[in-house]
Amino acid sequence: MLSEEELVAHRRGKWSVPSVPHKGWHCVDVEDLGAPQQECEMCESQTIRYVHHMEHPEYPDALAVGCVCAGHMEGSLMAARHREASMRSRTAKRARWLSRTWKVSTKGNPTIKADEFRVTVYQRGSGYGATIAALDGSTLQHARRNYPTLDQAKFAAFDHITRLLAQVSQ
Ligand SMILES: [Zn+2]
Repeated sequence: MLSEEELVAHRRGKWSVPSVPHKGWHCVDVEDLGAPQQECEMCESQTIRYVHHMEHPEYPDALAVGCVCAGHMEGSLMAARHREASMRSRTAKRARWLSRTWKVSTKGNPTIKADEFRVTVYQRGSGYGATIAALDGSTLQHARRNYPTLDQAKFAAFDHITRLLAQVSQ
């Protein structure tokens, strides 16, 4: 089986399609599927676990691609590898996230300090919302949507921090 590096070199998939830009993309999100289970939309060959969602000002669709394709698309393999390494190192931590000791805020909501952020989850409407505040006061972000369960809101907050740490441009 060819590595994704070789697939790029062999101009597999969209790498040989002239109407698809090959440079000037940027990453808008990165995601861990838990196992390799999706085909890279750029080389259309590599089965990927960590998905880099890439956008381009002159291309209508976002593409979900693997690490090496992402690196070539944005012109920095190092940036793509750094993002992916951040995701990988967070996987084990994510598995322990719910069983960590959550405290109770003055308003009675579960709250925890993690990676220089304070996460608070709370009931909102018929579901649960989450707030992520940087401990240095530089950012305060509220989850845009509601989650059906408290645990899902906690995971959503964790995944958001992962993206912040991976320095994905938002
Ligand atoms: Zn690829």
